[in-house]
Amino acid sequence: MKKTKDKKILKIGFDMDGVLLYNPARIFRPIIFFLKKFLLKRDVNKFYYPKTKLEKLIWIFLHKTSLFPQSGIKEIKQLIKEKKIKAYVVSARYESLEKDFWYWVKKIDKEKLFSSYYFNKNNEQPYIYKAKMIKKLKLDIFVEDNWDVVKNLKSQSASWPIKVFWIYNLLDKNIKYQYKFSNLKKVVEYLKKII
Ligand SMILES: [Mg+2]
Repeated sequence: MKKTKDKKILKIGFDMDGVLLYNPARIFRPIIFFLKKFLLKRDVNKFYYPKTKLEKLIWIFLHKTSLFPQSGIKEIKQLIKEKKIKAYVVSARYESLEKDFWYWVKKIDKEKLFSSYYFNKNNEQPYIYKAKMIKKLKLDIFVEDNWDVVKNLKSQSASWPIKVFWIYNLLDKNIKYQYKFSNLKKVVEYLKKII
């Protein structure tokens, strides 16, 4: 009898805000992009980083409001239990959001089924930090909601075999992209088909 080859367990990274957590503020991304590019003539690849105490407070407030876990997390945990995937949280949240980051980790994953959780404690540019972590963890798939980050990772991914899944929002809907999903549940449905 032929031995069945063990299927490779897929290593999947999940962004936190906008992917595992729903954040209505993310709908503003295209607006911020427009403001930066056309009105302020800023480098659109540079992400906003809160500097003053007041800016930091506003930043924390924005991240704290109206967040809740996305549906689909339960199914992800089921796939982990079935040893079909290994899951990681890779968030580019800055160091000022550390406490809140761990608060959400506990809420999302009480059972500690995810392999590990990372946030951007050295306040690097989000796409640089994420690219570094994807390489370090040797992820097969990364799920991200920010189109600017997706674009950036995609442009670098020729040199490493990562698939970047994009969860789009309403205003970005018309952008063409191969791995485009309307929400986390759709990502899970797709994963179930390929594993
Ligand atoms: Mg995000």
